[in-house]
Amino acid sequence: MGKFICDDPIATDRRRFLATAGAAVAGTFFLASSAEAAGEAKPVEATAEKKAFMAEATRLAIESVEKGWGGPFGAVIVKDGKIIGRGQNRVLLTGCPVFHAEVTAIMDASATLNPKALLGSDYSAGTILEMIPREPGSPDPVPERAKMLKGCEIYINGAPCPMCMSAIYWSRIDHVYFAASLEDTSKIGFDDAFQYEDFRKPWDQRRIAVTPNFEREEGLKAYSAWSGKADKHPY
Ligand SMILES: [Zn+2]
Repeated sequence: MGKFICDDPIATDRRRFLATAGAAVAGTFFLASSAEAAGEAKPVEATAEKKAFMAEATRLAIESVEKGWGGPFGAVIVKDGKIIGRGQNRVLLTGCPVFHAEVTAIMDASATLNPKALLGSDYSAGTILEMIPREPGSPDPVPERAKMLKGCEIYINGAPCPMCMSAIYWSRIDHVYFAASLEDTSKIGFDDAFQYEDFRKPWDQRRIAVTPNFEREEGLKAYSAWSGKADKHPY
């Protein structure tokens, strides 16, 4: 799986994607506010406060580079005007490929909001997460879900990769601010953009071999356990 751009057909294909399809992919799949989709993004005033949050995300990113911990990526999560979570890429430090800034910031913010979470023995109900009702008009079939990081914003010095954007969705974060674009990120050798392209393809056309519905009935046993659990907490 090539991480760095070179002059092969796949790389050419990626560059073409970046040049021509970025806006469409970003707009329709994940990144409504990406630089590539700037035509659709609503302008946001760069207040001193917001600039400070982005500066802190960038400081974290530079620290990671200078200490050799990982790539040049940092993130902060903000709630009610205060930073409640910080993250920086520490892939090189940990050897863990998913140790991205956004994921780390989400874990940090979650720990801030749920300081007793790791002491779970205090909670016989199985979760300490606050549940909130779905918003009026929402197509969500579930009447209430865990609040997670709803009400928070995330500031990232570079465009999120698909994994991190998914983590942001799972977190229910309200607003994503990122500075450098996916194209900027590709130029320094981190080619996240093709993943956005790959996600749009059928399973049998992905860059990684995928065998869907393998032993489906076996896997569904766990789904039945969830569906049949009377006191479950949707999230
Ligand atoms: Zn990421």
